[in-house]
Amino acid sequence: MSAPRSIAILAGGVGGARFVRGVREHVRRSGDAERTRIRVVVNTGDDMWLAGLRITPDLDSIMYALAGVNDEQRGWGRVGETERVSAELAAWGVGWPWFTLGDLDIGAHIARTALLREGRTLTEVVDRLTARWPLGAELLPAADAEVETIVHARDPEAPDGIRAMHFQEWWTRHRATLPAVRFEQRGVANARPTDRALEAIGSSEVVLVAPSNPVVSIGTILGIPGMRDAVRATSAPVVGVSPVIAGTVVRGMADACLTAIGVATAADAVAVHYGARGAGGVLDGWLVDETDAASVPAVEEAGIAARAVPLWMRDPDTSARLAADALSLAASL
Ligand code: GDP
Ligand code: CA
Repeated sequence: MSAPRSIAILAGGVGGARFVRGVREHVRRSGDAERTRIRVVVNTGDDMWLAGLRITPDLDSIMYALAGVNDEQRGWGRVGETERVSAELAAWGVGWPWFTLGDLDIGAHIARTALLREGRTLTEVVDRLTARWPLGAELLPAADAEVETIVHARDPEAPDGIRAMHFQEWWTRHRATLPAVRFEQRGVANARPTDRALEAIGSSEVVLVAPSNPVVSIGTILGIPGMRDAVRATSAPVVGVSPVIAGTVVRGMADACLTAIGVATAADAVAVHYGARGAGGVLDGWLVDETDAASVPAVEEAGIAARAVPLWMRDPDTSARLAADALSLAASL
């Protein structure tokens, strides 16, 4: 099957990166690499300022993975890292002692910050940084404005039992163990999707929702005023992939986020949470893992076409296969 000419993907960091690599691999194997445009609308809700540097974890995860310079073993950051600068910062008492950044990674942060300080938008900065490698996909921040995800979590040590902290502190320092009460997108009222993100969603032949965190990756993208409407309005079929397999999230702690918003950690529950486009939601199709085949009727009941296929992205083969299954479901709609 030949690949569509244009594919837009909504994605967070690690799950997003694996999936985007799979789509790129499938397109290459179909012999369509020259002809097919892959645009990735990337979550920016984890972004923050630390030690004077702008940090954009999800954009970097995808950029490094597509460039082939990511650390596969560790699952984040650059391969072959050293941490001399972080050790110095800790000695100065600057930054967060529990948030280590590799030296090569800090190089990227300095470059990004310098370009932002010269007055460029994040979209322009990402263009500049990603031009270093032939990625085979365009990375588009969902928004240029700074929107930060703040977690309101139960903390017995806080005066009123609830403490607000940056998502990164909740995730990395507390390993998502403090029960989250709600997630806030600070600054979102003044944010809008970038023109290029809207263009990608509106003009691609297919829109895919990566198996990313439904709350703080995909939920955050869709929470930017105008983004959900753009997905609902596109003439392209919208197909998502479940980040939940057999009742657990594959890598990471996304179940803590789902619990906080009252959604069960189940493949069908996530689909129902996204909703059918015919009923106010964003999906036309949904892929669950083979082990979740029993949940297909519940998803279809909600007005979303569903198939059960292997969802584990272990290597280029399994990831490309999953991309092909998502595109084939889209083509059937
Ligand atoms: P983050 O921003 O780095 O947290 O990454 P994402 O938001 O893109 O995605 C995290 C989610 O990806 C995890 O919670 C998993 O549920 C999902 N994920 C990771 N690897 C796989 C995989 O091989 N298959 C599927 N279906 N989901 C995966
Ligand atoms: Ca993320």
